[in-house]
Amino acid sequence: MNNLNFKKGDTVSVLQGKDKGKTGKIIEVDRKNRKVVVEGLNIHHKFKKATIGTTGTQAGQKISFPAPMLCSKLILLCPSCNKPTRVAHNFLENGAKQRICKKCGKAI
Ligand SMILES: [Zn+2]
Repeated sequence: MNNLNFKKGDTVSVLQGKDKGKTGKIIEVDRKNRKVVVEGLNIHHKFKKATIGTTGTQAGQKISFPAPMLCSKLILLCPSCNKPTRVAHNFLENGAKQRICKKCGKAI
């Protein structure tokens, strides 16, 4: 099981953790670490310190950003039936791999 079923632009639902039940769109995929970044989910904050430079004082800022999430905590939402689903794989005649929704049988 080293095959990652998610790709950029997929809509996923969170199965566990503080964002459980929420959905979002994948904006980044890290295949090596099996993690994805989902728009608006798993929000972390970092603080940029105030700096004094030649152009004056720059106020400190709070920066919010979505942190990578483990794929095992997510499930794909099928764009056809709008349900969380596992995917099956199908090979097209040209050898390309296609993902199939196990709930409605449509290509994702
Ligand atoms: Zn479906």
